[in-house]
Amino acid sequence: MFKKILIANRGEIALRVLRACKEMGIKTVAVHSQIDRDLKHVRLADESVCIGPNPSPESYLNIPRIIAAMEITDAQAVHPGYGFLAENADFAEQVQKSGFTFIGPDPDVIRLMGDKVSAIAAMKKAGVPTVPGSNGPLPDDPEICMRHGRNIGYPVIIKAAAGGGGRGMRVVNTESALMNSIRITKSEAKAGFGDDTVYMEKFLQNPRHVEIQVLSDGQGHAVHFGDRDCSLQRRHQKVLEEAPAPGIDPVARQEVLDACVKACIDIGYRGAGTFEFLYEDGRFYFIEMNTRIQVEHPVTEMISGRDLIKEQIRVCAGERLSIKQEDIVFRGHAFECRINAEDPKTFMPCPGTVHHFHQPGGLGVRVDSHLYDGYTVPANYDSMIAKVITHADSREEALARMRHALDELVIDGIRTNIPLQQDLVRDAGFAKGGVNIHYLEKKLGL
Ligand code: ADP
Repeated sequence: MFKKILIANRGEIALRVLRACKEMGIKTVAVHSQIDRDLKHVRLADESVCIGPNPSPESYLNIPRIIAAMEITDAQAVHPGYGFLAENADFAEQVQKSGFTFIGPDPDVIRLMGDKVSAIAAMKKAGVPTVPGSNGPLPDDPEICMRHGRNIGYPVIIKAAAGGGGRGMRVVNTESALMNSIRITKSEAKAGFGDDTVYMEKFLQNPRHVEIQVLSDGQGHAVHFGDRDCSLQRRHQKVLEEAPAPGIDPVARQEVLDACVKACIDIGYRGAGTFEFLYEDGRFYFIEMNTRIQVEHPVTEMISGRDLIKEQIRVCAGERLSIKQEDIVFRGHAFECRINAEDPKTFMPCPGTVHHFHQPGGLGVRVDSHLYDGYTVPANYDSMIAKVITHADSREEALARMRHALDELVIDGIRTNIPLQQDLVRDAGFAKGGVNIHYLEKKLGL
């Protein structure tokens, strides 16, 4: 096992990784930008290194500085968390070339899954169900593009192979708009991602977002940890998640779980990962894989009783997967509300000083947050400041628990989206379960 891990992230996920390391007896190195010197995990880490000024490119995205910090602190491995460099194959490669371990899959696997065209091809090969589409990049020839459109049937969606974060996508309703949409998406993709490869998919009208958590050791062993529903989204950003996804066809679910496990073995996947699907009319359609730990991993931890970060560290240290599928037993239901420093109505970020932070508690209530009294939320980074997670034997109880947990939560001094979350957990439609990805935006009148 590693003796020392460098945590190349900030905020709640850096603290989450630090806690796992402490339990495993692994020393920690926190790296931080100038403004982040008072982050909770920086104070709790065994060592800390300031790696640069506040803008991310000069600190959290600066590969040479992070590797230099590993060298001077003798850290053996780096945990990238999510965001920043977590899915950057060049970073993983440079970490390896410098003689350190990247806690995640091999760079070529990150590249394979980072390009959506190659990811879809790999998934089709492994038997994972995908969205009907062009099965490859769209050529310049309008005849071929229009033929794809007719075969798939309108509406279709044009997507950038290198796209991410909900950008680089365009819905096309009619053939007459097709070529123009392809042209625009291509130029946006070139400008945004440096790669103008685009492909075409059937546009599903009212899908849900259901994803599968996996863990694999890259040595031929993989398990799944069931599914999560993340359909409550605004601008493709997840707001509230739950596990398991309610009301999923059991046969379709088992097929897709088995296919994801097989896909991990096929591609030589190592670490924790998530296969994201759209789910409509009882069927799953793969859209992409996240080759890292995700924000919403706690809901899976609550229903499986497993620490996914510890397991991720173990397999990335070269240990064989010790958990067997039949050993993973799910109990009850869990929800996670993401708490952001933002105006609950306009969604504008609201950085500032937290005068008073009071966490909810009690059986089945978990708060993952780096906040403390007097902490100042900087304007430079993502606005998520806490995750409130509840777990209970039934979905109804877990939701009731979330209602009182949110009512108990106090974050004074800055505006947050707590009122929006309080509203959502009292929403009758959401309480029934199984809302689609448009539900939140419709509710908000967007
Ligand atoms: P990104 O990598 O940018 O997150 P995804 O491929 O995961 O892109 O898609 C993001 C979101 O876009 C999905 O959660 C869904 O809301 C919408 N979307 C993507 N593909 C389709 C599709 N074929 N039909 C309908 N909606 C889609």
